Amino acid sequence: MHTITPKNPIQRLEIGSASNPTGSMNRRQFAGLSASALAWSCLPACAQTFGSAQPVTFAAIGLGSISDIFMRACANSQKAKVTALVTGHPDTKGAKYSAMYGVPKTSIYTYETFDRILDNKSVDAVYIGLPNSMHCEYTLRAAKAGKHVLCEKPMANSGAECHQMIDACSQANVKLMIGYRVHYDPTWIQIVETIRSGKIGQIQSFHGGYFGQQPAGVWRLNKKLGGGGALVDVGIYPLNAIRHITGEEPQDFTAVISTRDRSGRFAEMEQSMEWTMKFPSGIIASCGCSYGQRGPSTLSINGETGYLVVEPAFNYEGLRWHGEIDGQQVEQSSSGKHPFQFTFEADHFADCVRNNKEPESPGEEGLKDMLAIEAIYEAAGAPIA
Ligand code: NAD
Repeated sequence: MHTITPKNPIQRLEIGSASNPTGSMNRRQFAGLSASALAWSCLPACAQTFGSAQPVTFAAIGLGSISDIFMRACANSQKAKVTALVTGHPDTKGAKYSAMYGVPKTSIYTYETFDRILDNKSVDAVYIGLPNSMHCEYTLRAAKAGKHVLCEKPMANSGAECHQMIDACSQANVKLMIGYRVHYDPTWIQIVETIRSGKIGQIQSFHGGYFGQQPAGVWRLNKKLGGGGALVDVGIYPLNAIRHITGEEPQDFTAVISTRDRSGRFAEMEQSMEWTMKFPSGIIASCGCSYGQRGPSTLSINGETGYLVVEPAFNYEGLRWHGEIDGQQVEQSSSGKHPFQFTFEADHFADCVRNNKEPESPGEEGLKDMLAIEAIYEAAGAPIA
């Protein structure tokens, strides 16, 4: 455990990593954290017992940036292991990752030969790190092959596709989980528990955003492959976090989109979006996202008696939050080292597969985000489905 070093009036704390996910949990304001969440988040991933079970074995589909991270995360895990690869470039990318992770050449598939994975007994599950428009197809094909599915966010390009994916996995009796890091990062688990335990009083409002730049020509700016604009890719982070914290589904939406860049980069989708959501309890949320702005990933939560500001909120590491709890200023940061969030995520999924448990972020979670995304685009006058 880290020592708490009070720094009047601000108190600094650190929370940790997969290799050392400590937390200064004896703080009065965190007294209400659930025992289970703490017990889980305080254990190093590698130290969490997995009984005598073998690691859950994955085929990584699409060997781009996120799959590279996922494979590194699995290398840090005792519960998850990459044993197969699916790529359009078996002789280059396939060979590279096969050498890095000891994947046999016979377990390298192309998109065309992927369905043969049915016969590969050394693969329990797939990790889908493909462009958004391909998530549905590969989930259906994996389910047909009897493989569990850990699929990246956004779950798909439409609510209708999400329903197909949920049905296919249910019928094949395989697990389906969507890769929402916020649900598994110890810092976020602590933040969510802090809010839910009433430490800032009744939640009143959220202000969130995720902003960045995408260069011309990437698949994310292609409507068919991306499905939507920044909202489906980065705006989904504050959307999902807010839904997760409140446990409610947004009802009323307003939204505006704007494109100032006239270079043609945004020929198929908006550059920026701002939207509001109102929840059944009366909580209101105001969020923004962009593919053509520099800006932070951020989420502020205003309660009746206190508030929290998380910034950066959705990065892979270095999360920080400050605010006011019980009249005291608090400030806290995560010392977890990338790719620890993905190791927690992979470990959770492996536990679900081995112990027949429902994932914390199942397909239904991806579907609910997608329905909200469709409603937000509708409110902006730019429907995607
Ligand atoms: P990427 O471009 O780096 O990788 C995509 C992979 O898909 C590449 O290996 C590419 O060769 C392959 N591919 C197959 N068919 C393709 C096609 N028709 N067009 C383009 N690529 C094709 O993308 P990425 O950043 O790894 O994103 C992949 C998925 O992961 C997306 O759904 C994205 O939203 C998600 N993602 C999640 C996180 C997270 O933190 N959870 C972060 C980044 C990306």
